[in-house]
Amino acid sequence: MISDMLKKIFDLFFYNENYCFFCKEEKIYKNFLCKNCIDRLIKYDVEIYNDYDEKNLKKEIIYYYKSDIKNKIREFKFKDGIYLKKPFASLIYDFLDKKLLEKIDYIAYVPSSKKKLILRGYNHCKLLAIEISKYSNKPIFENLKKIKNTKSQHFLSLEERRINLKNAFEVDVDLTKKKILLIDDIHTSGSTVYECYKELKRKNCEFVWIVCLCGVM
Ligand SMILES: [Zn+2]
Repeated sequence: MISDMLKKIFDLFFYNENYCFFCKEEKIYKNFLCKNCIDRLIKYDVEIYNDYDEKNLKKEIIYYYKSDIKNKIREFKFKDGIYLKKPFASLIYDFLDKKLLEKIDYIAYVPSSKKKLILRGYNHCKLLAIEISKYSNKPIFENLKKIKNTKSQHFLSLEERRINLKNAFEVDVDLTKKKILLIDDIHTSGSTVYECYKELKRKNCEFVWIVCLCGVM
């Protein structure tokens, strides 16, 4: 009896990791989520793989940015929902082609500007990359940096997005013969990851594999 009460008090103050990280109602089925929440995720099925027609670039998007996952990504990014790195990273890791992952040298993430980092206190994509690095034993790549404070992309046209992000990223090491996995959360126009890719390639990176958790359309 006493132990039951203690457990209830404990659960009140500490997050109970046995329950779904999305709904907190059901027991975990896999990826830190219950079966209902897993079943509600919608696999992204729009053909995007070769939209830039580049041989040393592979891009994949896992789910549609809709319903539960949309709300949870917002919580993850804007409301200190750091605990959500666990289900998100686990979903991404399960999706990854393990044979291709073997060949990867580093795991990179879409960087935030210094201003945004101070404002939010963390880079959510970096949190994902760190978790995936733990699963895969591949080192994190810290040398992709955002050197320009860009405007929020939400209300910009495709062309404006491209101009906004021009020269926004910088890599300060040589990447000859290196293969990089680049993690992003939401894919909208693709301009952000493409600008990151261009900078990695400018530093002679041999292959860039972009994986985005969600795609807007
Ligand atoms: Zn659930």
